[in-house]
Parts: sequence; C-alpha cells; structure tokens
Amino acid sequence: MTNLVDKFGRKVNYLRISVTDRCDFRCVYCMAEEMTFLPRTQILSLEEIHRIANAFVDLGVKKIRLTGGEPLIRRNVITLIEKLGQMPMLDQLVMTTNGSQLEKSAPLLKQAGVKRINISLDSLDPERFRNLTRTGDLSQVLNGIDAALGQGFDSVKINAVILKGRNDDEILPLIDFARAKGTDITFIEEMPLGNISEHQRDECFMSSEAVREVISSRYALNPITHSSGGPARYYRFEDSASKVGFISPHSHNFCGDCNRVRLTAEGRLLLCLGNEHSVDLRAVVRSTDDDAVLRQAIVDAMGLKPEQHYFDLQDEPQIVRFMNMTGG
Ligand code: SAM
Ligand code: SF4
Repeated sequence: MTNLVDKFGRKVNYLRISVTDRCDFRCVYCMAEEMTFLPRTQILSLEEIHRIANAFVDLGVKKIRLTGGEPLIRRNVITLIEKLGQMPMLDQLVMTTNGSQLEKSAPLLKQAGVKRINISLDSLDPERFRNLTRTGDLSQVLNGIDAALGQGFDSVKINAVILKGRNDDEILPLIDFARAKGTDITFIEEMPLGNISEHQRDECFMSSEAVREVISSRYALNPITHSSGGPARYYRFEDSASKVGFISPHSHNFCGDCNRVRLTAEGRLLLCLGNEHSVDLRAVVRSTDDDAVLRQAIVDAMGLKPEQHYFDLQDEPQIVRFMNMTGG
C-alpha cells in the first residue's frame, strides 16, 4: 500500500528515473542536433539515485523504470541496477532503452533483476533509421532486440513514435516485425517537449487513432483491458499473441488515473510529464543523511502534483525541457 497520494486521491506507486540526460542518439523528436548536456557535478551520483529510489520503495512504490537519455550509456549503471534488483519490496524493475548497447548488456540486465524491457524502434530501414536518430545504427539495435529476446525477460516491447511524412509508411512493417518476433508494440504520440528544429510538430503529428486505422486496414484489432501499469491502452489481434498499445497524450488524456512521478538526472522530482511542478531532491540528499527527511520531502511533494497536462502543438512548447531530461 503506497503512502504517496496526491490531492486528487491518485495513488503514486510508479517512479521513472532518468539515470542520465546523455544519449548516443539524437532522435529528431527528442533532441536538438547540438545538445548541451549537464555537467557531471549536477547529475545525481548512482549512490544518490539508489538512496532516493530506496526512499520511494519504503513509501510504497512498486515499480521503477530506468530511462534517460540512454540509461545503458551511464558508466557503471549496472551496479545501481543490481542494487535495485535486490529490493524485496519492489515488484517490477523495468527499463526503456534505444537498444544500442543491449547486445552486450541484455544478460547483465536479466541477471540484475530487470523484468521487462521497452526498446525504441521507429524504422526498419537503415538509412531512415539513421536520419531519424541522426547517429543510430539499425543493425546494432536489431541485434540488441534479439539479445533481449534470447534472455527470456517477462516482456520485450517495441516503442515507436510515428511522424506523418517521415515514417508513417512503416506502421505495418513495424507491426509485422513485432508479430514475427512475438513482441508487443506501442505507438506513442509525439509530445511537444523542448524546441526541435527538423520538423514542425503540428505538421508531422499522427494521432493514435490514425495509426490504429492503418493497422486495421490489414488486421482486425480488438480492445482489451490489459494494463502494464502505465498510460497505454491495448488491443489484440485475432491471430497473434502480440498486443498493440497506444499512448495518446494528445487525443486521450490519461491524467485521471496517473500513478507516476519522474526523477530527472539532476534530481528534480517532476510531478507531471507536461507541467513544471517539481521538487529538488538533489538538494535534500546533499544536505542531510537522514532518510526520514528525504521521505517527508517526497510525501510533501505529492501535494504539488497537478490535475492534468495540456499540450498544444501549434504554440511554442510550454515545456522547454527535452524528453531526455524528463525521462520518457
Ligand atoms: N533512450 C531511451 C529510448 O529511446 O528508449 C530512453 C529514453 S527516451 C526519452 C524514452 C521514450 O520516449 C522513447 O520511446 C522515445 O521514442 C520517446 N520520446 C522521446 N521524445 C519524445 C517526444 N517528444 N514525444 C513522444 N515520445 C518521445
Ligand atoms: Fe536518445 Fe531515447 Fe531521446 Fe532517442 S528518444 S535521443 S534514443 S533519449
């Protein structure tokens, strides 16, 4: 039972941790081409992240997702993962990764206690994959996906962001890829986080509904009540075990049953993806060794959780932080 309840009665039992703001990719919807990353002194140490995670689990958090930036490029991150994997009160340790390092990391993650992995994949065409990620090598990611599948995680899921005119012709190929691999796949609507240069977010926006229509042109989809404890709504095929999820921050506001908060790489506890309400937990851990003070700061922070987010694609982004800061 969680001790973390906000003023709208929502129970918070899920923490997403951005373990680094850095990344080996520069996906066009996530980052600018030239990025300035945080200096190391401003980033939480692995020990500080562990301490904060511990406090959350003491307060009743049952699920932690490690994300970033790219979590697997943080040096020695596996030592943190091993410690988190040993927390008896934590039910689910999961990760979102771009897959570039998975070929070598997958066995270590499995041993360390990671239960489920989400891998981002927006294109199956090497050249387009390179264009969308600006630096990524598709074959590395495909090998990473196979390595993860070989480890027998509870689930390996593909995440795809579809942009009209850039990769909307890959919806069906990505679906067929997921079906062939026996994985689930989730389509995420692009969110206006940070100022990007390569495309107009409103012109490229593709709603979950539009993606679902494309899939339905080939495969019948039936809605199901399955929940992975996150914001996705799921559908299943009639002839495959793979499920299709949709995360629709624009077209289907999921704030009413939000159970999540986010810890940024610099130790800011963000109460909502689409708002700036936050508490500086780095200041707390750097000012006291008393975990009771840390737990109280977290409990108090729940009072700041806003009721919902508002995204508007046409205006200047209201949220100037990029997704790699937020920990998507
Ligand atoms: N680097 C890892 C990865 O790409 O999976 C983890 C961090 S990334 C920020 C987490 C997820 O956020 C990815 O699936 C990515 O596609 C998604 N994402 C990034 N920027 C986004 C945006 N502006 N709108 C919607 N999804 C975004
Ligand atoms: Fe890196 Fe993930 Fe952002 Fe792509 S989506 S730039 S892989 S953090």
